[in-house]
Amino acid sequence: MLTGIHFLLTYACNSECDHCFLYCGPNSEGTFTSSQLRDVLAEAARIGTVDMAYFEGGEPFLFYPLMVEGIRIAREMGFATGVVTNSYWATTEEDAELWLGPLVELELSDLSVSDDAFHHGDVEDTPAKRALAAATRLGMPSDSICIEEPMVETGIEKDQDKGAPVIGGGAMFRGRAVEKLAEGLPTRPWEELTQCPYEDLRDPGRVHLDPYGHVHLCQGLSMGNMWETPLSALIQNYDPDLHAICRPLLEGGPALLAKQYDVKHQDQYIDECHLCYLVRLALIDRFPQYLAPRQVYGL
Ligand code: SF4
Ligand code: SF4
Repeated sequence: MLTGIHFLLTYACNSECDHCFLYCGPNSEGTFTSSQLRDVLAEAARIGTVDMAYFEGGEPFLFYPLMVEGIRIAREMGFATGVVTNSYWATTEEDAELWLGPLVELELSDLSVSDDAFHHGDVEDTPAKRALAAATRLGMPSDSICIEEPMVETGIEKDQDKGAPVIGGGAMFRGRAVEKLAEGLPTRPWEELTQCPYEDLRDPGRVHLDPYGHVHLCQGLSMGNMWETPLSALIQNYDPDLHAICRPLLEGGPALLAKQYDVKHQDQYIDECHLCYLVRLALIDRFPQYLAPRQVYGL
């Protein structure tokens, strides 16, 4: 049941992280308008099950008045709200309170702050720590997201065989992470990658919405376009068994996706997402309505 919508308010970001699975950066284009936010929130209300609206990106604080307006409209319509930020704006704790004050007034339910070396380098006093300290002082619910350099861990995780290498650190091998972080990591045979481990493609609990209208089930894997079909209708009519990419992913994971569409591939991949992302990249011209936008594939 869909309970959360996540606005990719903008693809623009002041950072250009190696692990960014949306390929965001200072030159990335695509930002919602306030009237689009209002229309989409009205559609989300029509769905009847959505109770949470997140504002993320890219970096949503780059479009601060728009983000605040989106949160205001969402609150007016009765949604709980959250923000995900890299907290570049937290120059001091005191100034961070200036940025967070209006969000406290709107009773923001969750401030998620990226706090790791990818975002801030390996230093003690980071903007993330200042932002979190300011949030605590203001009584705002907040948490941090920490993604480390990929590392090899051993042991059992999910359905993997005992002793199979497990890549820790939390980076997902999609988008720029595939280009920048994949090299040298242990791999598994492609035929073993027979399920999607992270997204519920049959009954998604949340979707990410971008300014081009794409309704992402996973980054770059679109249910359809909400500028062509209203969001409530897209959600109501979604049938994963009729979706050219989700059906094989549900039936046999990225391995079946590659097999079904005869995509040339290597023998080994780091994990399911690594194979899935590269197969989807190879299929992008064949299924432009489902594999979009091209910029999250680095194109
Ligand atoms: S991971 Fe976050 S902070 Fe880094 S480039 Fe992507 S959107 Fe920006
Ligand atoms: S990249 Fe593919 S396998 Fe990984 S979570 Fe997304 S849809 Fe599932």
